[in-house]
Amino acid sequence: MRVIRERTELRGIPVSPGIVIGKAYLVDRRKVRPQERVIDADGVEAEIARFHCALDESQRQLQELRVSYERQKLGDYGYLVDVHQLMLSDRMLVQETERQIRESLHSADWALWQVIQKIKKSFEELDDEYFRDRRSDVEHLGDRILRNLSGHKHENIADIEGDVVVVAHDLSPMDTAQMDVSRVKGFVTDLGGRTSHTAILARSLNIPAVAGLESVSDVANGGDAVVIDGLSGVVVLNPSEEDLAHFRERRTRYEAYRQELESFAALPAVTRDGHKVRVAANIELLEEIGNLRRYGAEGIGLYRTEFLYMNRPDTPSEEEHFATYRRVAEAVRPFPVTIRTLDAGGDKVLRSVPLQDESNPALGLRSIRLCLREKGIFKAQLKGILRASAAGNVRVMFPMVSGLGELHEIRELLEESRADLRREGQAFDPHMPVGIMIEVPSAAVTAELLAPYVDFFSIGTNDLIQYALAIDRVNEHVAYLYEPLHPAVLRLVRMVVDAGHRQGIKVAVCGEMAGDELYTLVLLGLGVDELSMHALSVPRIKRVVNHTSMAEARALVEDILRHGTGREIHQAVEEYMQSRYPGILDPMEQAVH
Ligand code: PEP
Ligand code: MG
Repeated sequence: MRVIRERTELRGIPVSPGIVIGKAYLVDRRKVRPQERVIDADGVEAEIARFHCALDESQRQLQELRVSYERQKLGDYGYLVDVHQLMLSDRMLVQETERQIRESLHSADWALWQVIQKIKKSFEELDDEYFRDRRSDVEHLGDRILRNLSGHKHENIADIEGDVVVVAHDLSPMDTAQMDVSRVKGFVTDLGGRTSHTAILARSLNIPAVAGLESVSDVANGGDAVVIDGLSGVVVLNPSEEDLAHFRERRTRYEAYRQELESFAALPAVTRDGHKVRVAANIELLEEIGNLRRYGAEGIGLYRTEFLYMNRPDTPSEEEHFATYRRVAEAVRPFPVTIRTLDAGGDKVLRSVPLQDESNPALGLRSIRLCLREKGIFKAQLKGILRASAAGNVRVMFPMVSGLGELHEIRELLEESRADLRREGQAFDPHMPVGIMIEVPSAAVTAELLAPYVDFFSIGTNDLIQYALAIDRVNEHVAYLYEPLHPAVLRLVRMVVDAGHRQGIKVAVCGEMAGDELYTLVLLGLGVDELSMHALSVPRIKRVVNHTSMAEARALVEDILRHGTGREIHQAVEEYMQSRYPGILDPMEQAVH
């Protein structure tokens, strides 16, 4: 097991603000194939010793398991322990792994994984069914040793005990949704970026997080002290006394700043020249509704309903949809609630929805495409939303629409759902506003054709940027190319706004861009009517809206559209904001430096 506990500072992508100091808990990476890692020749003995430590730890755990079986009168299962213990001392497993470490200079994890694959293959080739079935024993034992090699102890993120910060190679949104936030104080991952759904969920849960650290799960040991600075993206393992003093002081300043922020919550979002902008919140979890009033959000501009479908084997019934949405609508009244229908796929994998194993999931059978295929699942949600609309303040919105053909199909199913409800004698609002997200470039380009069939557009910049610039939003290697101010993105947004306005419909932005004050003037200048963001950002954005005018925002947009690259535009906007609004741009950062 890793025992080096020296101070290590890493820099990643800050994805959820706040500062936390805690003990590292390495999340089980079962089923995760270890990375191929080559070691120095003089590190061989240490690597073999590490392998033996993991074997000893596995032996100890198996012994504990035997005792626990006996205590629970499950002694018959002791034979499973026997099998695993026998395999643990198997020559092939031990000596072959050692040989691989010595000869190919591979890390113990990689060497062991290779050996396990070989043993499994030899079992597969046996005729005897009993022996063939021992494959899974080999796999389970391999998982156990690999977990011990990486310092992992528990299997289930929901079972974490004690206050910890989670260190993981990657976390799925489901893992994150399962976290018990009374225990998990923050998390850091090797993979991911700001707009991954895991990051979005971390912000909803209000826990500091840093992603894209590339190697944190390799260098951290379980139990290491860890500082996570979700403002700057700095993560320090085994911090010094000075580090601790510095980050505690920063945390105190950040907490004071957060409190001060709330004083802007009550501001109306009106520019100095009298232009009203709706500033609404995005929610993922029902627990967030309380934040809306606290931070002054004027309703919900995006309710990501896929979190209703997570961590369960079945899909929600119409009744459950109805009850949930009615609760939200009543809590938010008189402001509107924009309910987005199921947006599964991409980085949101659900157990209950039959997703294919695709090589390119972001471009695959996901989101609205999947709903149009799985009509039963879709109609249960549509009917639930329609019934909740009887409360009067519900709007429905469809994700990932790529063109008019899909929109016609959606409208047909919506009509069918209305007819069903009429037959069943259920009440609903016949005028419930219907909108679509514009997040696929083909929809942006054909916004003119789509506008006559909807009541509003909401631009999902997270995906629009991903698809327009061909940048995977969860891939940290191309995060530097993910440019919200790329001239192509700005032109697409303008195209959508102009098409919407020409046909008398409002256009919102509900991607992460809406909650970052660097972009507020640009979005206003492009003509966006509504901004929807994480509730915590609402006071900051309202403050910017209050300080500016539409004339100023339009002039800034005219100016920046002359530039040819995202980098130049970014620089121009940053310089403008810094000189015109010193202290407003990213005040979180400035308050805690
Ligand atoms: C978007 O794509 O901008 C968006 C708001 O939807 P999501 O982040 O859930 O994909
Ligand atoms: Mg999206």
